[in-house]
Order: sequence, then C-alpha cells, then structure tokens
Amino acid sequence: MLVGGAGAAAAALGAGIAAPSASTLPSHALGVPARVGPPPGVPSSCRVPHSALHGRSRALGLPNHGRLANGIPFPQETDYSFTWDFPLGLSPNPQWRRYGSEKLVLTLECVLSAYNAAHPNLARVGVADLSRRGGGPFGARYGGLGHSSHQNGLDADVLYPRKDLCECAPDSPNDVDVARAQELIDRFVRAGAQYLFVSPALYRRHLLRGPPNIVIPLAFHDDHVHVRIYPDRAPRQPTSGPERG
Ligand SMILES: [Zn+2]
Repeated sequence: MLVGGAGAAAAALGAGIAAPSASTLPSHALGVPARVGPPPGVPSSCRVPHSALHGRSRALGLPNHGRLANGIPFPQETDYSFTWDFPLGLSPNPQWRRYGSEKLVLTLECVLSAYNAAHPNLARVGVADLSRRGGGPFGARYGGLGHSSHQNGLDADVLYPRKDLCECAPDSPNDVDVARAQELIDRFVRAGAQYLFVSPALYRRHLLRGPPNIVIPLAFHDDHVHVRIYPDRAPRQPTSGPERG
C-alpha cells in the first residue's frame, strides 16, 4: 500500500520550511510509487550525477559532526521499500528520523527500485535511519543504540533482506538471505558508495564481501548495512587557460 500522494508528501516535506510548491518538487519527494528504470537523469548504475539534483540540500561538515541543510525525507513507503524504526522494532520509521541529502534519497530510490524490479516476488527492502531533519547529533538520546554518524544526510541504514521474506529486521545473521544482501551491496558499490559497513559474522564467513576499502565489517551491523555516500560535488567550471598557439 502506498501512503501519501502529492498533497501529503508536500505537507510532509516540512512544517516550518518554506515548502516549494508541488509543481516544483522533484518527483521523488512526492512519494510516487516505483518507476520503471532509474530516476530522471540518473544512469542505470545509480551513480547520481550533480545534473540530476534539483534541490538545494547540502551535507555540511562531517558525518559524525555535521548538519544537513534542506534535506528531504525518504518516503515512508513505496512499492519497493518500507521504513523501519529500530528503537521500537516496527514499521514505519517516523519521518524525523529519515531526512537525507537529495543525492542520498535518489541513490536509495534508484538502487532499491532496481532491486525490486529484478525481484518483484521478493519482499520490499527496509530503510531505517537516515539523518534527523536538519541533521546534527543522532545519539542514544534519540532511541536505541543511537548513531555517532548519520549527522549530515550522507548515511542510511538498509535492512538485509530476510530468507522468510518478512518485511522486518533480521533477528540474527541466520535470518539473512545472504545472496540478496550481497546483491544489494554490489548495487551500492556500483552506485558509488564510499563505505558499506556490514555484519562481521557474515563477512568473516565470506558470505558478504566487496572491495576492501568500501565494504567493511563493523560491530552492530548484523541486521543492516550502513550505506555512506560521498557528498555531491558540483563539477568544476572550465577555466579558460592562456591561449596556446
Ligand atoms: Zn548506520
């Protein structure tokens, strides 16, 4: 079931922020359902180029000491994804926990919709915390173990798919469909992720793997992969050099 629609999503975009009118919102901010193919302007690799970004979101500072300007919420629910509240152990995740930079939201939407298109009969993929609206500290006072990073809209926790197709977090590494989890990791590597923090138990058994500078085992990642992307960088303006002849 889809929640939202343009009106709800526009309202959800932000009490307090001067919300753009629905006609100016990028489609991914409107909670539209899964589309066929990647979001407009994004190649099938899901490596989001600067030219695909329309908003003014900016990752400020560092993932573990930063803020998020003009972030947008990852949708509560789509045809290909659901959201997960780890502290409460249920879906959906409240909106204030899932703001990201536009590049992060587009990356997630591209990867997860492509995964779903490849596996229409499997469960949708769960997305847990991104950043708080406006970013900043996201420690244990916000519930659960808390995060030291997730501060500037470049981090997202994505649930590993479960063997039993439950749309819920795995209770242990034994619940994880490692082939599908590996596929998600491969897709995020192709999308240009900076880091993917994964379950040490599954990594040790070579059940999850990838480029060693990107796919890194880290404690407390037995139920989800933590995706970190690079901030958007505007292409350099071509400088006119001295004339050569
Ligand atoms: Zn995380």
